[in-house]
Amino acid sequence: MKYAFALCFLMIMAALDANAQPKPGATLIITNAAIYTVDNEHPRAEAVAVIGDRIVAVGSKPEIDSWRGPQTEVIDAGGKLLLPGFNDAHLHFIQGGAQLDQVALTDASTPQEFAKRIAAQASKTPKGEWVLGGRWDETKWPDPQLPTRQLVDPVTRDTPIFVERYDGHQALANSVAMKLAGVNAKTPDVPGGVIMRDGSGNPTGIFKDAAQELIYKAIPPMSHEQRLLAARRALEHAASLGVTSVQHMNPEFADVAAYSELAEKGELKTRIYAAPMETNWQEQAKIGIRHAWGSRYLRLGAVKGYADGSLGSRTAYMFEPFADEPGNRGLLSDEMHPPSGMRDRLMQADAAGLQIRVHAIGDRAISIMLDIFGEIEKEHGYHDQRFAIEHAQHMALKDFDRFAKLHVIASMQPYHAIDDGRWAEKRLGHDRARYSYAWRSFLDHGVTLAFGTDWPVAPLNPMLGLYAAGKNHASRSCGSLYHGLGICRISGARERIDYTRQTRRHGDTKRQHS
Ligand SMILES: [Zn+2]
Repeated sequence: MKYAFALCFLMIMAALDANAQPKPGATLIITNAAIYTVDNEHPRAEAVAVIGDRIVAVGSKPEIDSWRGPQTEVIDAGGKLLLPGFNDAHLHFIQGGAQLDQVALTDASTPQEFAKRIAAQASKTPKGEWVLGGRWDETKWPDPQLPTRQLVDPVTRDTPIFVERYDGHQALANSVAMKLAGVNAKTPDVPGGVIMRDGSGNPTGIFKDAAQELIYKAIPPMSHEQRLLAARRALEHAASLGVTSVQHMNPEFADVAAYSELAEKGELKTRIYAAPMETNWQEQAKIGIRHAWGSRYLRLGAVKGYADGSLGSRTAYMFEPFADEPGNRGLLSDEMHPPSGMRDRLMQADAAGLQIRVHAIGDRAISIMLDIFGEIEKEHGYHDQRFAIEHAQHMALKDFDRFAKLHVIASMQPYHAIDDGRWAEKRLGHDRARYSYAWRSFLDHGVTLAFGTDWPVAPLNPMLGLYAAGKNHASRSCGSLYHGLGICRISGARERIDYTRQTRRHGDTKRQHS
């Protein structure tokens, strides 16, 4: 009885207390909007109230109106769509930012236009800096011949250029660049690469695959100022697209230094979680950095590795040979020689409390990584580590269940289904292609997805990714085992969940909001 009285008294006090503190007025209210909340219980809403930098309420117009105070700024959205900020689970943020200011050649439709754009870029490039980027595509030219140094030498004078083809497997250098790199007619080809040569043995300027390194090694690393500039450009671009948090894969520590300076200046408007190369895991572990360590805007504590190559270069590591190149099953990465080396490093990284993400594109590389994650989980137990396989592009049917069982996240870039996906079937054959870009199948097997773009490999705009993920692809690359039954698509609501999810641990998200 006494207890009941005490409880009752407390409830009255609590009620009085609530009355004593009226609801604070919102800083901002956005009303009359079509809001998708990405909360299954309450998927739709009309208005949102914000205090400072926090959303305090989402609901109907009258509900949110109660947050209105004398100082509240009110935006009438006029019925337009309002979405939570997007998270890009895999990108290269500073490289993406740098590319925004590089020469754009993808849509240069003639060699003359190609040279004209390079000339314009060279004329505004400070002395000592290079003209880079480009992503040209000579197949769009009336006579699709590879460009040569003779095309660009007259318009670039002292400025070195090294502009890449859109697939990253070839690049064009001018004579200045080759001179700086010490490359001439006597330079031998390198394993895995080709220096294109004219009739008299002189390099034409085109460097293929591993030969590109001959020129790249002559390019000075970005200065701190250049990194800051690139990061600022990337932040602007991300904000313009509604991307509010990102995971930067394989940053250099110098990139983190640029973010850190911007965080200090209050300029970071995108939340960044940096995942440096797994071979350097000790760099983070030795100073006590663990998963999701840092501030609300800048975190460290993850590592990123590579298990194999790519489909485009036929270096994705497959169980069976490529359909269009019998005898070639792709390649494991250097860091996977042997796979036990990768396992040992990741085992230690996990023990140190670091999160692990590994690039694996071919079915066999994916399978080996699942073996390794299984061994780590057996040794250390499951503690919401959030292992992620990056790309997880071409799956063996038997491995979908293992993803779910081992709690491995499939970190995918749906845009690839509408670029590489156009020719993937030719390379893989019909059967294997059915288990490619298979987000729908991952979901059907209870696997957690995280969507991203790999920017600048694909555009940062998440709307393009949403389009690609939800498209009912005419070809088999529809992201589903159920191709042919007309249920390839995943729903818009589902896509938005996977595009706003962060791959931090749950506990850390809670801590952040507390
Ligand atoms: Zn990447």
